[in-house]
Order: sequence, then structure tokens, then C-alpha cells
Amino acid sequence: MASGKLIVLTGPSGVGKGTLVRALLTHHPKLYLSVSATTRSPREGEVDGQDYYFLNKAAFETMIEENQLLEWAEYAGNYYGTPRAKVEEKINQSLNVLLEIEVIGAKAIKKSFPDALRIFILPPSLAELEHRLRSRSTDSELAIVRRLERAKEELEVSKEFDQCIINDDLETALQELEKAIFSHQIKIAESELTKKSTLFIRDNDD
Ligand code: ADP
Ligand code: 5GP
Repeated sequence: MASGKLIVLTGPSGVGKGTLVRALLTHHPKLYLSVSATTRSPREGEVDGQDYYFLNKAAFETMIEENQLLEWAEYAGNYYGTPRAKVEEKINQSLNVLLEIEVIGAKAIKKSFPDALRIFILPPSLAELEHRLRSRSTDSELAIVRRLERAKEELEVSKEFDQCIINDDLETALQELEKAIFSHQIKIAESELTKKSTLFIRDNDD
């Protein structure tokens, strides 16, 4: 049985990653969305174990020490990380797993999952990013300023990812995202088939 694939969505806060992921999951309910751990306080309406595992700093640091995180990063004054066990379990069950994470973590994932498809979501402009962060009304002024500062650094490394998608018109971005994920899966399946048939030819040559 082939193992599932890891799909990583990254990009600056406020660019629309969460919005795209929610839309993607309604179209493709078999995708598994990893639930991250964070030391950030819950926003109104966020549920522990569903939106995030909300931990204190000591509990998060224990997860780091015990190698329970696939990747982690400090972002705007808090820790964020991907619990390893669930991702590995789902991949072993042949499910495709989606991570929605910031840029440092997305870069680090390549070490443990070299085959991961890593997609960078870009805003149409910095001004529009700021507008989206503000109109979301979830973050304090300080958090917005920190996120915008970080966004400038993040945008500089967008080219290091497998694909960039501009989230201007939401429907267009969603279609591009689906196309990227679908064509990546075909490519991987083809390369696995090629590997198998090469082995088969070699076996028959012996
Ligand atoms: P992220 O998860 O990257 O932090 P969100 O998904 O929370 O970003 O989106 C930030 C804000 O931008 C939300 O209010 C969302 O409704 C809005 N948004 C997302 N995509 C678009 C888009 N294509 N056009 C306009 N607004 C958008
Ligand atoms: P927020 O506080 O807006 O929920 O998230 C802040 C940033 O942290 C976002 O860019 C989000 O994608 C990222 N993030 C969420 N979970 C993780 C994670 O597990 N690891 C990393 N590295 N970043 C994450």
C-alpha cells in the first residue's frame, strides 16, 4: 500500500491560508489537516484540540525536548509546532496530510519529508495583506505589526518553495492549489511506477 503524501501550505499571516484550506477540505474531505500545537492564547471561538492544541510554554518545550514535533518555530512571540505522531499515523494509513504553517517550519519539513509538496501563498500586495490582517479583526495592533514585519522577510524566500500561488481572487487561487496538489500526486505516482518497473526489469535481467 502506497503511503500518503505531505502537502505544506505556507505564506505570511493574513494571506488567506486558512481560508484556502477550509475550502480545499470541503472539496476533498479525505485530506487530513494536521492540528498544530501553540503557546498563543485561543482567539474567540477557537477550540482546543480542534483549531490548535493550546499549551503553556513548559509543555511546548517538553514536546520539543522529547522530539514529539515534526517541526516548530517561534512566530510573533509564540511557539507553533506540528505534532509528529498523528502526521506519521495518517501518512502510514495512505492519507494525504495537509500542514498550514509559517515559513521557517515549512522550510524545515524538507529534511524529514523530502517528497513533501511545499506551496507558498502570496498576497497580491503588502497593502492588501495589511488590509486582510486588519479586517480579520482577530489580532491586537502589536500582533499585526509583528506579523507585517515578519511578512516582509517571509516574502523574500518565496522562490525557495516548490510553487507560488497568488491569492488575489479566492476561486482562482483555490483552482491553482487543487491543480498543484493533483499534478504532484500524479507525478509521484508515475515516479513510483517507474521505480517499480525498473526494479522489475532488473529482476528479470538477473
Ligand atoms: P491566514 O490563515 O493566512 O492567516 P486567513 O485565511 O485568516 O489568513 O485570511 C485573512 C483574511 O483575509 C480573512 O478575513 C479572509 O476572509 C480574507 N481573505 C482570504 N482570502 C481572500 C481573498 N482572496 N480575497 C479577499 N480576502 C481574502
Ligand atoms: P495564527 O496565530 O494566525 O493562528 O498563526 C500564526 C502563524 O503560525 C501562521 O502563519 C500559521 O500558519 C503558523 N502556524 C500554525 N501552526 C503552525 C505549526 O505547527 N508550525 C509552524 N511552523 N507554524 C505554524
